[in-house]
Amino acid sequence: MSDEHDARRMEKIVSLCKRRGFIFQSSEVYGGLNGAWDYGPLGVELKRNLKNYWWRVMVHERDDVVGMDGSILTHPEVLKASGHVEGFSDPMIDCRTCKAHLRFDQLTEKKGVKQCPNCGGKDLTEPRQFNLMFETHVGAAADESSIAYLRPETAQSIFVQFKNILEVSRKKLPFGIAQIGKAFRNEINPRNFTFRSREFEQMELEYFCRAEQGMELLDYWKEERLKFYENIGIARDKLHVRTVPDDERAFYSKGTYDIEYSFPFGCQELEGVAYRTDYDLSQHQRASGKSLEYFDEETKQRFVPHVVEPSAGVDRTVLALLCEAYAEDEAPDEKGKMETRIVLRLHPRMSPIKCAVFPLLKNKEPLVAKAKEVIDLLRPHMFVFYDESGAIGRRYRRQDEIGTPFGVTIDFETLGEKNASLRDTVTLRDRDSMKQERVAINDLLGTLTSRIR
Ligand code: ATP
Repeated sequence: MSDEHDARRMEKIVSLCKRRGFIFQSSEVYGGLNGAWDYGPLGVELKRNLKNYWWRVMVHERDDVVGMDGSILTHPEVLKASGHVEGFSDPMIDCRTCKAHLRFDQLTEKKGVKQCPNCGGKDLTEPRQFNLMFETHVGAAADESSIAYLRPETAQSIFVQFKNILEVSRKKLPFGIAQIGKAFRNEINPRNFTFRSREFEQMELEYFCRAEQGMELLDYWKEERLKFYENIGIARDKLHVRTVPDDERAFYSKGTYDIEYSFPFGCQELEGVAYRTDYDLSQHQRASGKSLEYFDEETKQRFVPHVVEPSAGVDRTVLALLCEAYAEDEAPDEKGKMETRIVLRLHPRMSPIKCAVFPLLKNKEPLVAKAKEVIDLLRPHMFVFYDESGAIGRRYRRQDEIGTPFGVTIDFETLGEKNASLRDTVTLRDRDSMKQERVAINDLLGTLTSRIR
């Protein structure tokens, strides 16, 4: 595909996100806050479905993982010990010509000379280190002693709670602690819609193990995570695994994979799977003076566990889901003329609304009453939507555009007016094939739940 085609596709996705209430610019009425995004009524559902599925697969369906939810405000000593206060920075340069602030690795090069990617200017400042952490003050005093940070990753609270969680959960190695939550990085250039934001959410697992298990578990988790993406509807051939080369890896990591997705703006990281050795726990043990060791009852050994970390971005995955799902095809309009249909082919598991329910006509009381009965039947089990306005084709189209996988229409046959054997059956329409089948209301819940879980 051409760059132009991909840029156009991205524009359409961004426009759909705004038009239908998936994602808005934060503080839009005041001109927007760069690098921050608000999720609207449909975006929040999509995001929750993703987080809930991650939690289900990574915590509930396993015996060896427990969850936690740590605070965002972080003690400075935690981030000093982890190396973030010293080293969590990007080299940054300014272009003196167009005044752009740029990350050093974003510069372009012509005939060996670095230049500004915006204006081509060559008058650039020397690179300087820019710490990406957001600093704040806790309490009334705004001095050195009151500094706290907004966490730049969720992982550190898992490491510093390792001992407490080990004691209460009574797990044996290997076992993991999972967390989903906000993280903050003062990125120099937020860009590509939500891809690089200053406030974002992570889904992280710290899977503790013995040193000799580390490399094997790194491969195990890479495979598990690839399966996860396939199970939420991201095609395997759009995912790439990059083995991070030695010179790019964090010095303490013995192996790292980046799982990347082919976004319209290029193949970019969705998740990092890293074998972090015993670096983090050892650092915190040294700095805090508290033991973070594990005692193996069988061998009577005491040691600091190693850890493998699959760390995924919620916002990046939501964006990948939207990019993967966005499609245009052809469908007949009310008069049978073919028109372009925008459809989000989301996996039903991820779709914000699982089923829309339509009475064929809004001014026929028995149809409306039956439709409300169907809504009441489904509502305790899934997020459903009732719509009685406009022609039925247009109502389907509105749902296609937001990825609702199923539509149920209550028509005169449901009332058994023409054929008594069809009484209490409805039309169930599939978003992708647009095929319709006749289903008894009694079977509807079972049919739908088996397809959306
Ligand atoms: P990048 O190289 O893209 O800056 P990273 O390697 O620094 O990312 P990690 O520290 O490994 O990222 O964080 C784990 C995950 O958190 C990433 O794979 C990504 O999905 C998400 N993430 C990190 N930074 C951002 C950001 N600025 N905006 C959105 N998501 C992010």
